[in-house]
Amino acid sequence: MNILVMNCGSSSLKYQLIDMVNESVLAKGLCERIGIEGSVLTHSPAGKDKVKFEKPMPSHKEAIQMVMDALVDKECGVISSTDEIAAIGHRVVHGGTYYSDSVVVDEKVKEAIKDCFDLAPLHNPANLMGIEACEAAAPGKPNVAVFDTAFGMNMEEKAYLYALPYEYFEKYKVRRYGFHGTSHSFVSGEAIKFAGLDPKTAKVIVCHLGNGASVSASIGGKCVDTSMGLTPLEGLIMGTRSGDIDPAIIQFLCNKLSISVDECLNILNKKSGVLGLSNGISSDFRDIDAAAEEGNHQAEVALEAYALRVAKYIGAYAAAMNGVDAIAFTAGVGENDKNMRKDICAYLGYLGAFIDAEKNDIRGENRVISTDDSKVKLLLMPTNEELAIARDTLRLTK
Ligand code: ADP
Repeated sequence: MNILVMNCGSSSLKYQLIDMVNESVLAKGLCERIGIEGSVLTHSPAGKDKVKFEKPMPSHKEAIQMVMDALVDKECGVISSTDEIAAIGHRVVHGGTYYSDSVVVDEKVKEAIKDCFDLAPLHNPANLMGIEACEAAAPGKPNVAVFDTAFGMNMEEKAYLYALPYEYFEKYKVRRYGFHGTSHSFVSGEAIKFAGLDPKTAKVIVCHLGNGASVSASIGGKCVDTSMGLTPLEGLIMGTRSGDIDPAIIQFLCNKLSISVDECLNILNKKSGVLGLSNGISSDFRDIDAAAEEGNHQAEVALEAYALRVAKYIGAYAAAMNGVDAIAFTAGVGENDKNMRKDICAYLGYLGAFIDAEKNDIRGENRVISTDDSKVKLLLMPTNEELAIARDTLRLTK
């Protein structure tokens, strides 16, 4: 039983074909420059060399047809016909207030994805294009939408409402949605299994620290709170996003710089975060780490501010749940940067959470990184959003 997982952006798409019998990746790849001159598909079959196909892809339709052709190709293919694909799972960024779980796509679902275009203007149109291109390339195959916002839809009103006039929620659905939900849900579930916690009552905090970054709190796998909001701009300091700021800064900067709100939002999304704090060194933690090691003060401050913000969210979420059993680190920084994990955990002694320097000296695999006497289990748990999408797709279509 093979599931094809699609993650479509506006000019690119990533895919994986996963054999669900043993959850192994049969092939994965990437189409780049869709709709732009110089389109290229890079296809990586498991155990074989990767292959590049350079052919015009005016739209997602041609791109997905090329993916299907590569999967069944005599040389670099991994299946003999597309009949061996049971279903297709799609990452969809925004499900609005419509969906708190993944769903098999029909016309109603497509309308809902469209209705959320203004909530995720860069992502939802591309996600829908990907779904429609798959419907055309593989007629009759079930498509499943897996929403980044679904996990956050389980929050209670007290956590998801902003303290704004209530009519803005009623009229425009202005609320906290949360993103990276597929990762938070996957990692919290894996953390419960890995640490042997009670699946119904376990209190877990997941720190998804990638280029985008967010924290979630969940009890028994159900989201209690999460740090991203109406958009992914809220919460932690990120690669290029500011995370939480005083909203009055927007008006202040617009006046000082004579810029529009849109331009100011562009600064908060693309020029802030550790990139801004480090005075432009980089949004990549490897570069910031290297600069800090050479004694660059702004780089040191960027790292300290980042760790402090994560630690403050962990404290807030431990309070929201009246305790925490496990704290899991995941995504690019969370999985690879042992110094950042150490700096964050240095704030957590009051919770009885203690990191073990030796166990923490690892990257990219499931591991308990707390001391034996730590009251809270600290965990390194690599995320796997593609596998999470494939599991949901299988659950809804088998
Ligand atoms: P995305 O949010 O784009 O999916 P990832 O989860 O892949 O991002 O995280 C990418 C980030 O992870 C990079 O920008 C970099 O800051 C960080 N990263 C990756 N490898 C390392 C490493 N070895 N040490 C420190 N940071 C790393």
